[in-house]
Amino acid sequence: MAATKPEKFSSLEVLNAAIVGCNLCPRLRSHSTEVARVRRKAYIDQQYWGRPVPSFGDPAARVLALGLAPGAHGSNRTGRPFTGDGSGDFLYPVLYEAGFASQPKAVSRDDGMQLTDLWITSVARCAPPGNKPTPDELRNCAPWLDRELSLLKNLRVVVCLGRIAFDGLLAHQARVGQLPARSAFAFAHAAEHTLPGGLIAIASYHPSLQNTNTGKLTRPMFLSIFQRARQLAAQPVSA
Ligand code: SF4
Repeated sequence: MAATKPEKFSSLEVLNAAIVGCNLCPRLRSHSTEVARVRRKAYIDQQYWGRPVPSFGDPAARVLALGLAPGAHGSNRTGRPFTGDGSGDFLYPVLYEAGFASQPKAVSRDDGMQLTDLWITSVARCAPPGNKPTPDELRNCAPWLDRELSLLKNLRVVVCLGRIAFDGLLAHQARVGQLPARSAFAFAHAAEHTLPGGLIAIASYHPSLQNTNTGKLTRPMFLSIFQRARQLAAQPVSA
């Protein structure tokens, strides 16, 4: 990360503002702006966000939901994570039922949604072609996540939405010198891992339409992930 130094950002708000101006990945920036220019027919009257998508939630959160990347016509359109697409339509009702979200429906940045005890971010912050950021692009975006995690002072639990997010969290742990044996941490839906340093990772299938439409991830399965996250976050910190 040469053009920006996330470590200099002193708050999540300042960090978010800087992320929105990031241009480190030419392929992703070009794709996001092109999607925003052309637009989907259903949204032709809307102004797309088209920039890196800032994180969203409660700065005092004990739980983090870590996603993959913005959807081209979801958060790349609305400018808020998981807002305005099928993944978000699956996620937010579950967050509402688990007590993290103020309302079940997420449609735009100004729909009144508020999160309590939850912060939402992703390992890549620009919409990638085919929903697949390259390893280089994930590496470019990693310092933003590193800084973000250091600013979430109350964080206890990270819900990793999909294998790439799970790998992204492990890569973060390795970068900060808190992952001696990565092979000990395998991805499986609902698997829980206490990481060196005390953070608890819960792995979950990603709420993509590919998973939710096929029944690979059902609403009860997903709800139990966030109910468990809430339970773990409330446990006393061991000395
Ligand atoms: S994906 Fe991350 S590093 Fe790449 S341009 Fe977007 S915000 Fe910057």
